Amino acid sequence: MHQKLPNEIDPIRLAQNGLKLNGELSIKDMPRLCESLVTNEGSVDVDLAFDVDEINTPYMQGKLTTNVSMQCERCMSPMIVSLSVDCLLAMVISELKVAALAEQYEPWLLENNDPVSLNAVIEDELILALPIVPRHTEACIPNEVWSSGEDSDVEEDDKPVSPFAVLSQLKDKQ
Ligand SMILES: [Zn+2]
Repeated sequence: MHQKLPNEIDPIRLAQNGLKLNGELSIKDMPRLCESLVTNEGSVDVDLAFDVDEINTPYMQGKLTTNVSMQCERCMSPMIVSLSVDCLLAMVISELKVAALAEQYEPWLLENNDPVSLNAVIEDELILALPIVPRHTEACIPNEVWSSGEDSDVEEDDKPVSPFAVLSQLKDKQ
């Protein structure tokens, strides 16, 4: 039941009218995102709700889901990265207003009242959600899927391991 998504939107007007947009965007139309990916195939499921909150801040609440392919920096083979991004962007016209935003919002600075590229906004959110160091977790298992929201595992993995700790582990196994 997907509608065709517009290339350009007027976010403030959408918010004032309380409109929803949902559909698919092609990954190949997001060149900055593609720079981090192995292939540009696939699409992003986009589910957006525009509204105005009780203190008159226009906002966009979005849910973006997609699977992209990145190169694992450990084994250099492609890995599937499953992204599920929830975003809450408040539209601000002036940078001065950014500081006054309620904490739950990410500021979305609009230069003026010109239409905005929907692709570019979604692309920015997806780029922010990509793993900084794409790596299969634990051993490099082909076809293993990395999912957003599992960052804690990755951080643990990043701790430097002393070679002596590795040696003692090997000894224990013998
Ligand atoms: Zn790997």
